[in-house]
Amino acid sequence: MKRGGPGLGRHGGSYDCSMPRSRDERLARNEASFRSLNDALGANVHARLSGPASADPGFVCECGNGDCEEIIVVEMDRYEQVREDPCLFLVKPGHEITDVEDVVERDDGYFVVRKHEEVADIVRETDPRR
Ligand SMILES: [Zn+2]
Repeated sequence: MKRGGPGLGRHGGSYDCSMPRSRDERLARNEASFRSLNDALGANVHARLSGPASADPGFVCECGNGDCEEIIVVEMDRYEQVREDPCLFLVKPGHEITDVEDVVERDDGYFVVRKHEEVADIVRETDPRR
């Protein structure tokens, strides 16, 4: 008698269950990667991003859109304050995604958003200042 054989219905799982990424998680990871980028850039790069007309440094928009190339200009002190909380991100006004984050501050040229609790683990574990 042969073991197994054909006709058992499901044969062998190459069922991909390794990456069941939810949209929320994907957005959080996009934002976390922009945050890491901002944190890794040197002062001269920030100065170049904001352009010669601005005394304040420029940062890449930390919204969930992986293709976003917007630059926001924020005082360095303010940036540092936002960076102290791993759930806060700086985005261009209009780039907030209100079903995954809340706008906690609206300023000229940028919004500060707070990620919802569901993805707090992701944004904490990817915190470049941790
Ligand atoms: Zn953006």
